[in-house]
Formats: sequence, structure tokens, C-alpha cells
Amino acid sequence: MSTYQHSLLRKMPKVELHRHLDGSIRQGTIVDIVKRHKLDIDVSDRARLKKHSTITEPMQDLAAVLNVFETIQKVSCSYEAIKRIAFENVEDAWMDGIKLIELRFSPAFIAREKDIGNDEIIEGVLDGIAQGMGKYDIQVGLITIVSRTLDHHVNEQSTMDVIAYVEKGHHQMADRIVGFDLADRENTSDPSDFGELVELSRQAGLGITVHSGEDSDASAVQRTLTLLNPDRIGHGVNAWQDGDVVEMLKERDVLLELCPTSNWLTQCVPVLAEHPLPDFYQAGVKVCINSDDPQLMDIDLTHEYEIAQRYYGFTHEDFKKTNLDALKKTFLPQEIGVHVKEKFFS
Ligand SMILES: [Zn+2]
Repeated sequence: MSTYQHSLLRKMPKVELHRHLDGSIRQGTIVDIVKRHKLDIDVSDRARLKKHSTITEPMQDLAAVLNVFETIQKVSCSYEAIKRIAFENVEDAWMDGIKLIELRFSPAFIAREKDIGNDEIIEGVLDGIAQGMGKYDIQVGLITIVSRTLDHHVNEQSTMDVIAYVEKGHHQMADRIVGFDLADRENTSDPSDFGELVELSRQAGLGITVHSGEDSDASAVQRTLTLLNPDRIGHGVNAWQDGDVVEMLKERDVLLELCPTSNWLTQCVPVLAEHPLPDFYQAGVKVCINSDDPQLMDIDLTHEYEIAQRYYGFTHEDFKKTNLDALKKTFLPQEIGVHVKEKFFS
């Protein structure tokens, strides 16, 4: 990839729908927060810190990646820290050429083993993205995550807290909370356990996306579609194993949020060149390209576009198509999607 092509891809307007807020914390910010809050993380050796807080080689499986998340989870420890992380997420996205982004976070996961409540976390994120949107020409939506491995009552409480923000407008930016996501290991859980929380969120006007078909097979995607009826699927890579499930995705007009490098690092695909992204695309399934956890994986979205160009032969027209599909399927209000389309993609 020449520098010239790289800078063209960086400048290209992009839409990203799948990025984890806490998978996108800058190394320098981790160091600052650890020192300020005297956290139990050794930051004296930068190379060592990077080794423990990033993943650049394929891990054993998704569970191993989630363990690295445990380390960086400690850093989102106060309103100020979370606001800074949210602001920098928006700034980094803008520098990556992104015009509309949906960032996701799990209040209950962040709050674990800390003296911090869901409200404080939600306020920090809302204030951070407000600061980012005030400084840069970028539209930001938020998706709150329910983690499959947390206790049901914890997930229930966090869902109710989020819905209270959405319905009562506790914050001037509360209308930026636009989606619900079910994440974390799928192969040991049953989607029907989360049907009630999904329905409550849908009734509150939130779009529904579900991490599925990542550490599980095509039948898991089929169950997710049948039992939870999501608008979008996070990853869904293994749906390619079953033509009937691919047809279901098309019939239901479900967009796949695909993240090539992430899927390679979790060994969902053995090598990047074998990712089924181009297969789904050619088959007429709506897809968009995403970075998932850019700082954690030491990448950015431009890097994922380079991969799509190099391995899947994506052209500027293909990128435009996937970005326009992402705009159609954003959980932000349609008028925002149309505004971004007219300003940057027409
Ligand atoms: Zn994800």
C-alpha cells in the first residue's frame, strides 16, 4: 500500500457502526488515568503495557481477547476518565475520515468492581461525545451493551437505567443513545434469555444489534434472527457456512457489521484473505466495514479499508455502496443519515 493510496483511503468519507468505546482507549490516556487514580496496572514499562493492553497476533479464541478487555476495563474508573475516553474516541474517528459513527459501551461491565454507577458512566459518555461533536463535524450515536456473561439482574438494571435516559431525556444528549447490543461469548448462552431486555429496548425506540456468529456457528445466527429479530448483526461471519441463513439475512434486510482484523485476531477466520466479507457482499447481503476495537488491536478503520482493497478487491464504488448501506441502517434518526449522505456521499 503506497502512502498516496493510504492517505486517499484515510480522507475517504466513512461510516462506522461497530466500535467499542473501551476498545479504543489511547495508550497515553491509559498511562495518565492509571497514574492519576493510582490504579493497579504497571505502566512503568510502555512496551510491557502495550503487550498487556493490545492484541496484534491471533489469540487462542474470543475468550482470550475478552481477558485483555478486563485489563483496560479498570481504566474507565470515573466520570472524568470516561468523558475523556469518549471525547478521544470521537476525535480519533474524525481523524480517520469518519463522518458518522456509532460507539458502544456496556455500563454494567464498566461499573464492575468499582464505586461508580450506571448514571455516572452514561453522563460521562454523553458529555464526552457532546464535546467531540462540538469540536468536529461528525455525527455520533451510542449503543449500550448487555454482556451475556453478567448476572441477569445487573443487565436488567443497566437496561432500565438506559431506558430512563432515553425516555425521560435526563440529559440534553440523551437522544444520542440509539441502540441496544447483546455481546460477549455466545457459545455458552441462549438468546431467549435476553428476549425480554431486547423487547423493552425495542419498545423504547432503540435499534437492536446482536454479536452473533463470531465464536459460534451459523445455527446461532439463525436462532438470533428467529428469537431476537435484530436490525443488524455484529460479525455474523459464520452465517456464511449455511446458505439458508444467508438467505434469511437478505430476506430480513439485516446488515452485517463486519470487522476483518478483529475476526482474524479472535481466530474466527484463519487468515484475512479467507474472510467471507466479499462473499456476503457479492451475495447481496448488506455489509459495512468496521474496526471493532481499534486501539486494542492497534489498527484504525482506514487499515480495514486497506485490507478490503488488498484482499477483497474493493473499489471506491464498493466502499461507497457499503457506506450508503450503513447510513440506511444507522440507528440515528433517518434525517441525520440523509444529512450525512448529502454532505459527504453524493
Ligand atoms: Zn464487537
